[in-house]
Amino acid sequence: MLDRLKDRFILETQLTAHIVRRDRLSRMSVIPVVCAILAYCEDYRSAAIIAATVTISEAAAYLAGTGVGIDAPPPPLRRCAAIWTVAIVTTAIYMAAGALFGAGASTAAVICACIWMFGALVHVSNSFVAVPIYNWSMLLPSYIIVAVVISNLFARSFAPPDPMDAITVGGLLLVYFANSVQTTQTHKDSISAYEHMRELAARRLIELKDLSLRDTLTRLPNRRAFDDLASNILRGDGQRHGASGALFLINLDGFKPINDSYGHAAGDALLKEVARRLTAQGIGAGAGAVARLGNDEFAMAWPGPLNTSELHSISDMIQSHLHQPMRHNHRKLQITASIGIAPAHDGASVDQLLNEADQAMFHAKNNLESRIVIYDRHIIPKRSNLNDRARLLSAMQQGEICPFYQPQVDIATNRIIGLEALARWVQPKGNPRTPGSFLPAINEVNLQAEFQDHMLQAVLKDMTTLQNLNLLPDQVSINLSEVTLATAAGRDALLDVVGRHPNLHGHLMFEVTEDIFIARAGQTIKDSISMLRMAGVRISLDDFGTGFATFQHLQELEFDELKLDTGFVSRLGTDRATDVLVKSFLDMGRGLDVHIVAEGVETTAQLDILRDMGCQTVQGYLFSPALSLDDTTAFLQAGDATVAA
Ligand code: C2E
Ligand code: CA
Ligand code: CA
Repeated sequence: MLDRLKDRFILETQLTAHIVRRDRLSRMSVIPVVCAILAYCEDYRSAAIIAATVTISEAAAYLAGTGVGIDAPPPPLRRCAAIWTVAIVTTAIYMAAGALFGAGASTAAVICACIWMFGALVHVSNSFVAVPIYNWSMLLPSYIIVAVVISNLFARSFAPPDPMDAITVGGLLLVYFANSVQTTQTHKDSISAYEHMRELAARRLIELKDLSLRDTLTRLPNRRAFDDLASNILRGDGQRHGASGALFLINLDGFKPINDSYGHAAGDALLKEVARRLTAQGIGAGAGAVARLGNDEFAMAWPGPLNTSELHSISDMIQSHLHQPMRHNHRKLQITASIGIAPAHDGASVDQLLNEADQAMFHAKNNLESRIVIYDRHIIPKRSNLNDRARLLSAMQQGEICPFYQPQVDIATNRIIGLEALARWVQPKGNPRTPGSFLPAINEVNLQAEFQDHMLQAVLKDMTTLQNLNLLPDQVSINLSEVTLATAAGRDALLDVVGRHPNLHGHLMFEVTEDIFIARAGQTIKDSISMLRMAGVRISLDDFGTGFATFQHLQELEFDELKLDTGFVSRLGTDRATDVLVKSFLDMGRGLDVHIVAEGVETTAQLDILRDMGCQTVQGYLFSPALSLDDTTAFLQAGDATVAA
């Protein structure tokens, strides 16, 4: 109600400014006539007052109305108030001029006053018929002044009429006539201006309504619009029977780090691309409705009926579409998605289905290896029972999240020359969970710093244990997330821990990925790396060859080690181009005096090729997966690494 009144007020202001501007000349043209009549009546004072006040008020109206009109954008409320004040004062001055006339002693002056005021009233009511608020706010004070003039008439005696009086009155009547003709013509303009404004306002209203139902970034329907769309598609509005279909809640994994490191522009571009893919052929054709619910969360209502395997194949399709790399400013961005699914059922509102999908999603993100979970009220505990942040923190405190170690083997001697610490979540039941299943949650709840610190402390403790057993290999590698290096606080925490272990830091190797080259805080990261190197820690470039590193980058930062990505190793011997590339990487490594470790070696064939190409160090399931500290100790005690059976 208040909003509608405000819109109306603004609309009338725009129209008023238009009319006041349009009629300015005709109003001003009356002044010389009036002054001439008053001069004839020898009332020079009134003539001067009228000329001055009307000119001043017109100037004020000009200033207040500049830039406001029917095609200009709606003015702010303060501007509206100024326009109204000036317009009301201008009209009051016009009417007051009539009162001045009426105060004269001659009959002609009084008749002129009546014609003046009548004319002003007709003008106001004609011009502003389309502007009711304005119309009445002008007319009411005008009528009061008319009443004052009329009461003056009765209170005074007049001199007998003079023949010149008739000429004076006739002159003003002529002016009035001319003005009335003009007013009748401009009336048409007032009406069409009003229609124009109404049309604009109606269009604005439709735009506003559309905006209120769409997400501004992706232009997808928002949560409000989704409610209606989904309830039609799933017919799960709680009243009708025969609900079918399912609601998919899609949450991006790894969105926050992209947003944090590459900037909001990259984040926005990614979200738009996700929206495009979700509505593109394939998915878009099948889904009844796709919406963005907020941040990195999307929802989809898919008409049914759908069985479990169909739900999974739809989810697989969504995941594979979203997993394709996207490009932004020559950067490759890649994300995955977790999907919670709520099959529609009779009596369930969209709200309830969203809630169920949300619980399934929580499970998909945090509890299971699978990133696709279908809601089932029997197996999915209430989300409120699980406080993910608290759970992750306590898993760290209890040592459930801890480092496992994967050996790095010297090909020539079969000696274990290093270990890579890889995080595992060891739970009482089941296999240890790999980082893919909990690192996204750690990022999501902002525990990266705690995680990094926890891993570093745990690795240093294990290193002390191994050192005491005389089993500590030359190097122990720890993965660093770029977030740690991108802030001074993260870097200082690392330097602090390293500084407190002077007898171990010579064995430490920090692994960073190529992402650091394109992170927003590039300079801070480079500084961090230089400081760590100065503190005696070596730096390794992980997943080399998958991303953005150029030779210039490599020279700039002088890495101690490059880790050839698993992807290259797995194609060795099957793809000639890969063989050539790997060979040239190895040659380059030797040339730059950088140690190269080939990761993900699974077969003896791969090992043989690498050996022939001059690779010195390998790491992979062929020798061993990552092992617990106890198993690692046993492995190291056995001496040489033997190829796994
Ligand atoms: P990464 O640093 O590239 O680690 C190598 C991954 O390859 C490990 O996966 C390892 O188990 C796996 N792998 C080892 N040998 C083979 C093989 O022969 N074949 C194949 N297919 N894979 C092999 P994991 O442990 O699941 O770790 C995944 C990623 O999680 C790591 O990739 C690393 O980026 C991250 N990560 C692990 N621990 C930490 C940590 O403590 N801190 C941080 N910031 N990231 C970590
Ligand atoms: Ca690594
Ligand atoms: Ca790697």
